[in-house]
Amino acid sequence: MTESTTPPTETRTIPRDRHAISRKDISPSALRVLYRLHESGYAAYLVGGAVRDLLLGEHPKDFDVATDATPEQVKHLFRNCRLIGRRFRLAHVVYGREIIEVATFRANSDDGSGDRETDEDGRVLRDNVYGTIEDDAVRRDFTANALYYSIADFSVRDDVGGFEDVGNRVLKLIGDPETRYREDPVRMLRAVRLAAKLKFTIDPATAAPLPVLAPLLREAAAARLFEECLKLFLSGHAEASFLGLEAHGLLSALLPETAKALAANRSGALRRMLLEGLRATDARVAADEPVSPAFLFALLLWPAYCRTLAMLQAQGVHPVEAERRAADRVTLHQVETVALPRRFSLPMQEIWLLQSRFPQRQRKRVVRLLAQPRFRAAFDFLQLRQAASPDHAADIAFWAEAQRDPDHALAVAALRPVADGDEEGESEGGEAARGSRRRRRRRPAAVGH
Ligand code: ATP
Ligand code: MG
Repeated sequence: MTESTTPPTETRTIPRDRHAISRKDISPSALRVLYRLHESGYAAYLVGGAVRDLLLGEHPKDFDVATDATPEQVKHLFRNCRLIGRRFRLAHVVYGREIIEVATFRANSDDGSGDRETDEDGRVLRDNVYGTIEDDAVRRDFTANALYYSIADFSVRDDVGGFEDVGNRVLKLIGDPETRYREDPVRMLRAVRLAAKLKFTIDPATAAPLPVLAPLLREAAAARLFEECLKLFLSGHAEASFLGLEAHGLLSALLPETAKALAANRSGALRRMLLEGLRATDARVAADEPVSPAFLFALLLWPAYCRTLAMLQAQGVHPVEAERRAADRVTLHQVETVALPRRFSLPMQEIWLLQSRFPQRQRKRVVRLLAQPRFRAAFDFLQLRQAASPDHAADIAFWAEAQRDPDHALAVAALRPVADGDEEGESEGGEAARGSRRRRRRRPAAVGH
């Protein structure tokens, strides 16, 4: 493949002594791939997020390579290579647990001549047009993501002004922002996510269309939006991501029921809890502790669950039935936009449904709840709820003790006056029911906390 003679923008080459990327920060596997391609006569560059992160002095989480070799030619060079992808054909070179993704330079051919297809909204459906390195740069999303580190002379190649933008920590779409968002609405989430992750500002022209075009997100593939949600909220910058989504009008497109519930919750308690939970998630990621999509979505959709539950209860639905129906309804609505797989939505619902069992102190119930596989997650969730409102202190103290010594906890509880939620009998009223019953004197419409 030859390089275009008329680059669409002025090309800048930043030599090795003018940038901070050092080979010792590049994964040895990626270097091996780069060198092999180069020695075989192909162009070989490190590209995308890795170059951006290395310039910022961060550790890239993966290393992508771009080349003028076709996927088949790449496969020929590496025994440990498999070809993947339908919309884009890519080569994966596998070294143990590390995968180096090798992509052939691609063009964003919008003259209709290539193997590319868009729908009536301008969305790209299929895109297998190989091109030059300049073509490859301009079809990328943000200028910061379109820098190429050459293994031939260790320079950085910049066709779009990305080097300067990285230096200024600004996220700027390549080309006309509205067109680029219409081509692929997920770029709107990527803007917010990368700004949150990198602590970049979003350039005003890139930010301006976000609230207007937000509804396009509803037509994006729900499975892709689920993946994007995990990246937004389980990569250590969940709080910043959430605030970014809110600030740019994307929350109501991604989590419509939650956005509605937050707007209706005048005390702000639900939002406080959500933010507290996201901060806790970030702390866990920072400490290398595991985080689960089920718990994350329990948190993200809790406002929607509380609101739906309160509405069902107001309609006179029996509390136990109301909880189940609220959980199902919220899940069903949400999966229209974000395809939360059942292996996560089921435990998410369990976390919600267990909440109303914490105030129950009969011996048999205590033992049963402690034995629940989801007990620990539900208890962690209860502690989060406490962060937003002080209603649950007695429950938390009891269950913290019960985990250490159930008999002692029960003995101590027996000495205390019966708390509000401790009614005997079969009533499993649900937290919202109990909460509103408890607060009826103050504010009849109180929800959740
Ligand atoms: P991260 O650090 O989160 O991995 P990244 O920028 O590497 O961020 P990837 O999803 O790994 O993001 O994508 C790799 C590269 O592919 C990007 O840097 C960008 O150049 C290009 N790219 C990814 N998604 C898009 C998109 N929707 N439109 C255009 N280019 C994209
Ligand atoms: Mg990446």
